[in-house]
Amino acid sequence: MNKHYDFIIVGSGPCGLLSASLLSSIGKCLVVEQGKKIKQEENNTYTYDHIYNAYVGNGFNLAFGLPPVILSEGRVIGGGSTVNSSLHHRAPNHIWDLWREKYLLKGFNKDKVNEGYKRIEETFCTNFGNLEPSIFYKSAIINGEKVERIPRWGKENNKGILNRCTAAKIFINKIKSNNGFINESTKFLKAYRDRNNNWVVLLKNILTKEKYSVFCKNLVLALGAGYTPSALYDLGLRHKKLGKFEIHPTARISLYYPQYKKPISVVEPFQITGHFPYLMIGSSANKTSLSESNYPFRENKHNIDYSKVQNFYSMSPSNKKGRIVMRGFLKNTKFYFLDYKTKLFIKKGLKIIINIAQKSNCEYIYHAGMIINKKNLENKKMVNSFINSCIQKTLSSVHIMASSSIGENKLLCPLNSLGKIDGIENLLVIDQSTFPSCPTVNPQATASLLSMLNTKNYMKKL
Ligand SMILES: Cc1cc2nc3c(=O)[nH]c(=O)nc-3n(C[C@H](O)[C@H](O)[C@H](O)COP(=O)(O)OP(=O)(O)OC[C@H]3O[C@@H](n4cnc5c(N)ncnc54)[C@H](O)[C@@H]3O)c2cc1C
Repeated sequence: MNKHYDFIIVGSGPCGLLSASLLSSIGKCLVVEQGKKIKQEENNTYTYDHIYNAYVGNGFNLAFGLPPVILSEGRVIGGGSTVNSSLHHRAPNHIWDLWREKYLLKGFNKDKVNEGYKRIEETFCTNFGNLEPSIFYKSAIINGEKVERIPRWGKENNKGILNRCTAAKIFINKIKSNNGFINESTKFLKAYRDRNNNWVVLLKNILTKEKYSVFCKNLVLALGAGYTPSALYDLGLRHKKLGKFEIHPTARISLYYPQYKKPISVVEPFQITGHFPYLMIGSSANKTSLSESNYPFRENKHNIDYSKVQNFYSMSPSNKKGRIVMRGFLKNTKFYFLDYKTKLFIKKGLKIIINIAQKSNCEYIYHAGMIINKKNLENKKMVNSFINSCIQKTLSSVHIMASSSIGENKLLCPLNSLGKIDGIENLLVIDQSTFPSCPTVNPQATASLLSMLNTKNYMKKL
C-alpha cells in the first residue's frame, strides 16, 4: 500500500469531499472515512437501513441533559449529505455581520460570501421544485402564516421524486479522476508531526481491526463538529471554547390526517418562516415506520394508518453552548442543557402547529409520550401538558456546529479565520465545527462555503 500523500483529509462529509476535490487537483490525496458507502436516493433516506448503518451510534446518539437531546450525525461516505433532507439555505446577512463584528471573521466580505453561495448552489444543483404544499401548509397560509418553498439539492423527476445531489455523487469521481484515494471503514486515531514537520497519521481498518500509519505533508480535519474538537485537543490545542458546541434545538410532532394522502416527498420542501430568526416550523420525514415509532403505545389503540401521518418540527436557534468531553473514558460524550428562552420559542412553535392541525381537521396529534384527539384540542390544560411532554420526549437536533470556531477574536475562537492554528502551517480545519456560532438555518451550504473558501486560501499559500 502506498503510504505517502501530499494531503490526508479526515472525514468524507460535504466539507471533506469538497476540500479533497480541490486539493486532489494539485497533489496526491487520501480521504479517510470511518463509515461505508450506502444507497442515497430520496427513498433510501430516513429508512431503518440508513439510520442503523449510516448514523453515528446506529441512530442512538444523545447529548446528556435535562431533557436529553437526540442527535443525528452521519457516519458514512458523504457524511450528513448522504442522509439529510437536501434543504438548502444561505445563512442570513445578520449572521455574517455578527461573525464579522463579534468573532472578527476576516476574509469573508459580503461579495465573496454571495459569490461563494452561488458557486455552492451550482455545484449542488440547487432547485426550487414544483411540488404542491400539503394540507398543513395550505391551512397555514389560510391562517395568515408565511410559508416558503425551500430549494433542494437535486432535481425532481416528473413524479416529484428528488434525484438527490449529494456530496458523494458530486465529488468522488472527481477525486478519483485526479488519482485521489478514498478509504472507507477507516478510522482516524491520531496524528503527530515528525522532525521534518510532516504528519504521521495513525489509522485503523474497522473491518480487520488492523492499525497502521500513513504519512502526509498536509493534514485536513473534517470529522464534523462533534469530533473535530477532540482531534484538535489530541494535537495539543488548548482553548476555553474548544468543544463548546451549539445546536438547533427541535421538538417533533406527528399529525394524523386520515382523509389526505401523505406528501410525495420524504421531507416536504416548505417551511413556516414568518417567525424567523427565533422560530422555524417545518417538515420532518414522513416515513411510515418513523410515524409508527413516534406513536406512544406498543399496540395501535387508536387505529392509526401510519401511512397517512405527517411529521413536523418546531425549531428555535440558540446560542446556548453544550460541551464535548475531549479526553478520557468519556471522550466525545456530549452534554447540553436547553435554556428557558429557547424552550419558550419551541413551545410557541408547537402551539402554532397544533393550531394549524386543528384548523385543517387533523384527527389525532401525537408524539412518543402522549396522544390527543381533535375534540380535546380545546382543553388548554391537556394541550399544555402535551406540549411540555413533547419537549421532554423529542428534544433533538440534526445540526451540531461551532465547536472549533474560526475568527480573529482570540477569546472566542480556537482557530484563526483561515481555519488554522496560529503557527502550524500544514494543518487545516474545514468542517461545520468552524462556524463562529449557529447560523439559524440549515447549515450545509454555509459549511460547504467555508470549506471551499478556506481550502482555496490554503492552496494559495502552498
Ligand atoms: C438527518 C439529517 C438531516 C439534515 N438535513 C439537512 C438539510 O436539509 N439541510 C442542511 O443544510 N443540512 C442538513 N443537515 C446537516 C448537514 O448534513 C451538515 O451540515 C453537513 O453534513 C456537515 O458537513 P461536515 O462535512 O461538517 O460533517 P459531516 O457531514 O458530519 O461529516 C463528517 C464525517 O467525518 C467522519 N468521521 C468522524 N470521525 C472520524 C474518524 N475518527 N475517522 C474517520 N472518519 C471520521 C464521519 O463518519 C462523517 O462521515 C442534516 C443532517 C442530518 C444528520
